[in-house]
Amino acid sequence: MKIMKQLFFLTLITCGIPFKSMAQDNDIFPRGEKAANVHHVGNVWLNELSPADKVFSYSTAVATFDAGARLDWHSHPGGQILLITQGVGYYQERGQAKQIVRKGDVIKCQPGVEHWHGATPESGVTYVATSPAQNGKTVWLKRVTDEEYGSGASTTSPSASATTPEQEVLALSKDKWTWMADKNVDKLNDLFDDQSVFVHMGGSWGKAQELDVIRSGGIHYKKADVHEASVQIIGNTAIVLNRITLLAVVGGNEVTNPFIVTEVYTKENGKWKMGSLSFTRTMGPGNDQPRK
Ligand code: MN
Repeated sequence: MKIMKQLFFLTLITCGIPFKSMAQDNDIFPRGEKAANVHHVGNVWLNELSPADKVFSYSTAVATFDAGARLDWHSHPGGQILLITQGVGYYQERGQAKQIVRKGDVIKCQPGVEHWHGATPESGVTYVATSPAQNGKTVWLKRVTDEEYGSGASTTSPSASATTPEQEVLALSKDKWTWMADKNVDKLNDLFDDQSVFVHMGGSWGKAQELDVIRSGGIHYKKADVHEASVQIIGNTAIVLNRITLLAVVGGNEVTNPFIVTEVYTKENGKWKMGSLSFTRTMGPGNDQPRK
C-alpha cells in the first residue's frame, strides 16, 4: 500500500510540474496582475496591453482564467472581440446556449448584448479582448450561478471539452462518479467493457453484477470526494488513480471510507471503455490528510 501511495504521489509530481511550466511557455503575453474578485469568481489575471487613448479608442487586454473561473454577466456598450489564444472556455449570450470556445476561436460580442465568458470546469482559458471605449465602460450585472455555469452538462460534459487524452480520461472518470451517484445505469452500461471487472472490499465481480448492484441500490456510491486524481497512458490503455473519500450506502447503512481507486480504461474504436474499477481501502496514517 505504501509503495502504491508513493507511486501515486510521484505520478502527481511528475505530471504536475511539466504541465505548469508548459502553460507558462505557451503564454504569448505576460499574464499580468491577478484581478480582485469583484466581477468574477475563481482566479483571473488581467494584463492591459494597450489602453484606449485619443488615437486608438479601444483597449486591448489579455485575460487568463484558471479552470472554473468565470466573469459575471455583463455587456459592453461598444461591443467586444475575444481572440482565444489558449485552452478551452465558455461563452454565453442571454437566452442562448452556452458555447465551448477554444484556442483560435474569434468571438464578437455585439454592443449591449448581455453575456459572460470564462474557463470550463476542466480547463483554463486565455484570450485577448479588444473593447471599444468611446461608448462607455462595461456594465456589470449578476453573478453567473452554479446552475448556469454547470447547466447543459449532459451535452457539454467535462469530457466534451477535454483537449488531451489525459484530460479526456480524467474527465470521463469524473463523469463516472456522477453517473454512479445518479444510478445512471445506461451511461455506465455504455462505459463498462463487457469483460470489465470490479473489485470491492466485499468481493469482485463482472459487469452484469456491478450494474445490478448499482441499479438495485445494493451499493449506492452516493458521493465520492476526489482529493487527487492522476492518469498514466500506456498505448491504448489508461490507468487512473483517484484518492477519494467515499460516502456509500451499503445494505441501507451509510458508510464513509477513504480509498485509492484504480481505474483501467482501454480505447476501443476511438472510445474509452472501462476495463476495471478497483477499490483499495487506505490504512494507517495519511487517511485524514487535509483536503487540498
Ligand atoms: Mn465580455
